[in-house]
Amino acid sequence: MQKIHREEPCRICQSREGTLLALIDYWNLQTSNLVKCDSCRLSQLDPMLSIENQEVGCEAYFYKEQIEISPKEQKRNMIRNFRRGVVFGYSLKLKNICPQNILEFGPGSGYFLEGIKFVFPTVKITVVDVVQAVLDFNKHEHGYNTIKSLADDFKVETEGVYDLIIARDIIEHVSDVGRMIVNVKKLLCVGGFSFPNPKWT
Ligand SMILES: [Zn+2]
Repeated sequence: MQKIHREEPCRICQSREGTLLALIDYWNLQTSNLVKCDSCRLSQLDPMLSIENQEVGCEAYFYKEQIEISPKEQKRNMIRNFRRGVVFGYSLKLKNICPQNILEFGPGSGYFLEGIKFVFPTVKITVVDVVQAVLDFNKHEHGYNTIKSLADDFKVETEGVYDLIIARDIIEHVSDVGRMIVNVKKLLCVGGFSFPNPKWT
């Protein structure tokens, strides 16, 4: 393993020392080193992806999935997500957590939220995504409020608003995890609840 001095400091602990794991080419847009921080052990790109490249890459990934996953399978995924949302909603209810105002980063089809809404019919829902087609679908299909942004580039205009923030299978795609966590903390109201669920594959 090759020890390297990074171009940018670690976004979690600010250390410049790391171990080179691989060279990553992101959609032919940007090439960066994948570096494991010697202090906090977080693996990150160095240098970090630019906001512009992340936006293009997210859009490319969305259209790749649209092409590769058949409409039948997409419908099956929506039903599966709805069921997961219902189960998650009831698990909250059992803990006496009754959200009024939910924010989800990267909502996909929005059916996980629809499942939660089945359990809490009066809940207000806002979704954040960088891909306009995802936001349009969520607005027209479900009537959710939409905000166009990356999870770590989110401009927090009103603090302490949401009592439940959901990020399913998102955190492992976010470049600057530290900044996203700071954002989530700002957006949550006192006593609010966050549900970051990474899918490590
Ligand atoms: Zn670190």
